[in-house]
Amino acid sequence: MLTIVSTPIGNLQDITLRALETLRDCDLILCEDTRHSKKLLQRFDITTPTKSYHQFNEAKECAPIIAELKSGRNICLVSDAGTPTISDPGSRLVKACILEGVEVNSLPGPCAAVLALTLAGLDTERFQFVGFLPKKETAIKKELFNILYYPGTSICYESPRRLINITKFIEQIDPNRSIVIARELTKTFQEIVRGTPKEILQHFEKKEVKGEIVLLIAHNPTFQSSYWRELPLEQTLDHLENTFKLSRMEAIKTLASLRDQSKREIYKESESD
Ligand code: SAM
Repeated sequence: MLTIVSTPIGNLQDITLRALETLRDCDLILCEDTRHSKKLLQRFDITTPTKSYHQFNEAKECAPIIAELKSGRNICLVSDAGTPTISDPGSRLVKACILEGVEVNSLPGPCAAVLALTLAGLDTERFQFVGFLPKKETAIKKELFNILYYPGTSICYESPRRLINITKFIEQIDPNRSIVIARELTKTFQEIVRGTPKEILQHFEKKEVKGEIVLLIAHNPTFQSSYWRELPLEQTLDHLENTFKLSRMEAIKTLASLRDQSKREIYKESESD
């Protein structure tokens, strides 16, 4: 059986009794970084053999691990921190297990996204997890577009380096949006900052943003959520081009995906307007 084991994201005391027992009793622990996980294992006197399993050897290691699991070995998977498979390696292995009829279990434990959501004070009835925002500017803007129109809370993992620029961008589009920054969760300097983009920027103006960050963006019901469907096509394309700095073709592509239409249909309609 494969067992996904969540581990602490900053405070070692957050390891569960079940996680310790399972890690101690299994045959092998797959670690995102064996040296990193050794600190946790040593702290709790766990001597189970470890093997590295990370994003760069995931594809190659999957088949041999499945073979070991099929031979009856009990294998655990841990990442450097938090819940494996959530912006961490593991989902490929879980999918392979399901495909190959290998039993999978997952032990609940720390996950920065969920912890941040419980602390944010934003809507928890409906939320989306978007992981890390893309690196390229156009892709970021497109993703932010999906986030700002999403009718619930959006949760992103973000680097401190990029936080300011992203917040500035949100301020330009929707200055009234509520944002929450959950920083250094479970650690000594845990900090939760809530406010509008401007308030967030003012807060971080005073000091360099450091540490690990979850960015949460609230739903703003007064923001036109069905803009791209209700407004005339030309106006919607202009809005996309101007606000999100998209080219005409990118705006057409974005609108096509938002309206569930083909690029050709949007293009034709825009030509006939
Ligand atoms: N699988 C992990 C989980 O369950 O939370 C996430 C791994 S992902 C590679 C690392 C990102 O998670 C960080 O860049 C940060 O955005 C977020 N993160 C992890 N630990 C955190 C913490 N203690 N406080 C705030 N954010 C954290």
